Amino acid sequence: MTCWNPVYECMSRDEMTRVQGSRLADTVKRVYHNVPFYREKMQKLGLEPGDIRTIEDLPKLPFTYKQDLRDTYPYGMFAVPLSEIIRIHASSGTTGKQTVVGYTRRDIDTWAEVMARTLASAGATKESFIQVAYGYGLFTGGLGAHYGAERIGASVIPISGGNTKRQLQIMKDFGTTHLACTPSYALYLAEELEAAGIRKGDLKLKAGSFGAEPWSEGMRKEIEERLGIMAIDIYGLSEIIGPGVSTECPSQCGLHIQEDHFVPEIIDPETERTLPPGSKGELVFTTITKEGLPLLRYRTRDISSLDDGKCACGRTNVRMSKVAGRTDDMLIIRGVNVFPSQIESVLLDIGDTAPHYLLIVDRADNLDSLEIWVEMTPQLFSDEVKHIEDLERKIKKEIEGTLGISAKVKLVEPKTIERSEGKAKRVIDKRKI
Ligand SMILES: [Zn+2]
Repeated sequence: MTCWNPVYECMSRDEMTRVQGSRLADTVKRVYHNVPFYREKMQKLGLEPGDIRTIEDLPKLPFTYKQDLRDTYPYGMFAVPLSEIIRIHASSGTTGKQTVVGYTRRDIDTWAEVMARTLASAGATKESFIQVAYGYGLFTGGLGAHYGAERIGASVIPISGGNTKRQLQIMKDFGTTHLACTPSYALYLAEELEAAGIRKGDLKLKAGSFGAEPWSEGMRKEIEERLGIMAIDIYGLSEIIGPGVSTECPSQCGLHIQEDHFVPEIIDPETERTLPPGSKGELVFTTITKEGLPLLRYRTRDISSLDDGKCACGRTNVRMSKVAGRTDDMLIIRGVNVFPSQIESVLLDIGDTAPHYLLIVDRADNLDSLEIWVEMTPQLFSDEVKHIEDLERKIKKEIEGTLGISAKVKLVEPKTIERSEGKAKRVIDKRKI
């Protein structure tokens, strides 16, 4: 068994409950005294830090929503003086405003630890060569995998995303044993390998840790067959720490959550009641060791369920099922969070089109594509072709600037887009995952 930290990954339930309780009580004390947002919320509920003593007290605490991070943008939820923050990451949000997260030195250390567990769970050791093809930058994927690989003592190849030809050459020449990237990019790499005439046998690749977007069992099979590897699903979100919140083990039957750092709950998103193990609902996390940005009961909007049954690998920490969708309308396109409302606000700002649009998301050659249909006003429709083309280009540029990914923009005739009497249908997602 490849287990990075058996003390915490194979801890008895009683011991884990005790560790979680004391870390939770400590976290609640810190946020009460250092984050006005939480102090006010707790006071409204008539809660004092001393009321939270064990993990059983968790449901008494208030929820935290992505919107709370936006409302306190950029640093309002931080629980330490800014001088203690040594790293900032950010992800996109609905209104173009980013969700900003901050790490202290100890948070970075925790991140390295949970990512070491994650990569070790896919079989990585100090003998491994880990090609990190997640993007490096404000996105947490690249650096998260990087720290974990370094912590293990593996040889890190920090190539970042893109430049597929170079990825393939390096994979072959440098003897890459582990690949870390999005599952769709892994499949794309597999296709390009075949096109380049490189055979599985020419590579030393053994496993991959794939995350940042939902993917199916069918896709796993295809990646495993075409690359000749074990494909491991990993999960994380920047608000909680980045990648490293949970990972599959070689049993591939759910993702073990690093429960000594992140306490999971499944709730009914409507009634907000906590549901028992096995029930499907919204995944909620409370961080219990984070210093920079501790979050109480953070609503991930991801749909999953928890399994506290025995796992063949020997780890005892609870498993979450592969994420089965989202409770809101967020789309994940090429690993980037996209909200239809972001596109809407760009169109409204430009203002020369009708307020009807449609997003068509598809996946060709294992890469996601986004096409945006925007309806012309009757005046625009009777205008010169050159003016229409200019406007298309302008919208494309503005949208790419806001989302950070490329999109195809098509201005369509008035009344082309189907009208709805209820909630407007803004998205057609043709991806089969
Ligand atoms: Zn397991």
